[in-house]
Amino acid sequence: MNDLRSLPSVDALLETNFGKSYLGAYGHTLTVQAIRETLADARSAHLELETKIPDQGKLLADTERKLRSWTSPTLYPVINASGVILHTNLGRAPLSADALQSVQDMGSQYSTLEFDMEKGARGSRLEHAHQTLTRLLNAEAALVVNNNASAVLLMLKALTSGYKVVIARSQLVEIGGGFRIPDVMLQSGAELVEVGTTNRVHLRDYVQAFDAETEAVLRAHRSNFAIVGFTTEPTLKEIAQAARNQGLYVFDDLGSGALLDTAQYGLKHEPMVQESLADGADLVCFSGDKLLGGPQAGIIVGRADLIERLKSHPLARAVRADKMALSALSATLLHYLKGEAEEKIPIWQMIAAPLEEIRQRAEFWQKALGRGEVIATQSTVGGGSLPGESLPTFALTFRVSHPHKFLAGLRTSSLTVSHSPSVIARIQEERIILDPRTVFPHQEEDLLKTLASVLETP
Ligand SMILES: *Cc1c(COP(=O)(O)O)cnc(C)c1O
Repeated sequence: MNDLRSLPSVDALLETNFGKSYLGAYGHTLTVQAIRETLADARSAHLELETKIPDQGKLLADTERKLRSWTSPTLYPVINASGVILHTNLGRAPLSADALQSVQDMGSQYSTLEFDMEKGARGSRLEHAHQTLTRLLNAEAALVVNNNASAVLLMLKALTSGYKVVIARSQLVEIGGGFRIPDVMLQSGAELVEVGTTNRVHLRDYVQAFDAETEAVLRAHRSNFAIVGFTTEPTLKEIAQAARNQGLYVFDDLGSGALLDTAQYGLKHEPMVQESLADGADLVCFSGDKLLGGPQAGIIVGRADLIERLKSHPLARAVRADKMALSALSATLLHYLKGEAEEKIPIWQMIAAPLEEIRQRAEFWQKALGRGEVIATQSTVGGGSLPGESLPTFALTFRVSHPHKFLAGLRTSSLTVSHSPSVIARIQEERIILDPRTVFPHQEEDLLKTLASVLETP
């Protein structure tokens, strides 16, 4: 018990050179808290496990470890070598340089967010993307909200609460993160009316379900799965025609909603926003950070009278988009308007990357490391777009004895090697796969550093 008295006081540790440097780096409150916890740990270890009282050097090192861990961010950049272009867990779409610049400008200065410069009076934040969206999509009106999940909720809540909404059974989808169409419909107060079977739905199924309490038809895109085999579904055009005859609205939740035709890159044709509008949907909603390649946002386009009703609903205020998202979105949309999306938006650069260029990059990695083998394999689009679709690619592969341990080493390298960012790779047939398609050229040096250090680890 005598030993406990050799434990220094909080003040004594603060007075040391290390203590003073922690005060400068982490501030008084946090440093004192870390020292107190370190001393408490030492005390209880001594009493319960009869360990020796640590010396001052060890106590200071323990304090620093706590301070570092408490202040290290959990949100930090990683290198995506998985070949999944829209990786939901890795933040979906990286922004273009112009989008980033506008976030920097709008975030660091005052802006015209809700200020009408001509009148010198209050304006609306909804103006900013409105003009670009309506011009680009030939739509009457547009509204931007926090994300596409809130877009769906707002549409149903504001326009169909207390009424029936008809949807095909094959479209009662669950997106990742627990977003389920039937649950969202329940939240909106609309009554869900399922029609058809899992694999087949006919136009007559819709028409038979329409009654006096029906207000709308919802179509939801099967973003993350495909139904193959004996299947049928009426086109949106047919559904819209039938709905219009009954005076019903048609809402189309496209999920990803491409503005460029994915078929020109050898992929299946992902439904396009322009097509849904042309086919007669009254409102179309889609994400800002899927195939649009912008920030998290939900975009609703279509009939002006309906958009007005959405804007004036109280929920619109609760799901409004913030200025950083609005600025990044406006800059992203301008790329489409100017016909430069493929050159300027990172995800389209990745989708359009020439195969030969990818092969050369993989071969360069192999030469630089003097290890591995370059093979032909597949990249995927991911992020709730084009399920089951892939793009041919070349990747650097390694055969290692413990692939999962190797992946973990790549992930945690930022903690062990300084200035060596974490790398996300994948395993295919027991081999480690590193796909250049999703790695930015400016990340290559870091990638090779991380790889070299993990390859050297026994
Ligand atoms: C992704 C998706 C959503 C949700 O969009 P978020 O922008 O992630 O909120 C809704 N519906 C469909 C069909 C989707 O694919």
